[in-house]
Amino acid sequence: MQILITNDDGIFSPGLYALAAEMCRDHEVVVVAPNAERSGAAHSFTLTTPLRAEETSLAGLPVRAYAVNGTPVDCVKLGCGNLDVTPDLILSGINLGANLGTDAFYSGTVSAAIEGGLLGIPSMAVSVNSFTPEDFAPAAHIARSLIPRLLRGECKVINLNVPDLPEALIKGCRFTASSRQVYDEVYVERRDPHNRRYFWIPTAKLTQHETNEDTDGRWVGSGYAAAVPILLDLTDHACLARWRDET
Ligand code: MN
Repeated sequence: MQILITNDDGIFSPGLYALAAEMCRDHEVVVVAPNAERSGAAHSFTLTTPLRAEETSLAGLPVRAYAVNGTPVDCVKLGCGNLDVTPDLILSGINLGANLGTDAFYSGTVSAAIEGGLLGIPSMAVSVNSFTPEDFAPAAHIARSLIPRLLRGECKVINLNVPDLPEALIKGCRFTASSRQVYDEVYVERRDPHNRRYFWIPTAKLTQHETNEDTDGRWVGSGYAAAVPILLDLTDHACLARWRDET
């Protein structure tokens, strides 16, 4: 099977390396990833500047690899359209930091997988719940275990989040729903050396998950990996049905 791997942390992220190392053991892996970190790029693409795909290598791995001066979505589009790749599967990650629930709207990692889905290719975003993970192997192994299910075709995109725990301490993998993530929305305000103020987005989460809720945030916080099947349709079908009935 040919697997296209991308991410939003940049092509030299240790998380991407770990995922490519895991998958190239028994698959043909092509890496097409941003040449620098693009976390938070969401579903953006590059419209007004030229893109370059520089062939590079990932130390010791037998994979074709391209560093692109664009977004994760650019990488998926280029990978599937221009770089002589016809992937059976797209994997995005392993992202440093969780992409739980509504974080998916901001995440370049998840958006790359959604782009894969929009192109008709089974795709999975993989994130570990730490910016300084101990070990990527648990997330890589759980991602691998979900591939047969993804290829069954009931859903085109999975958003997988894995706790930063030793493999033996991860209690299992839950199929679950997307959670609402709540942040401190007040940007940190500081002064530059010229005494002009600047703002920086805070990352402190205020989210509290109920102990009985069946969402990715609750399960990852309880020591489980969490896999959410993602729709490619933002329509509120319940609302639409009511409005149709009214007319
Ligand atoms: Mn990232």
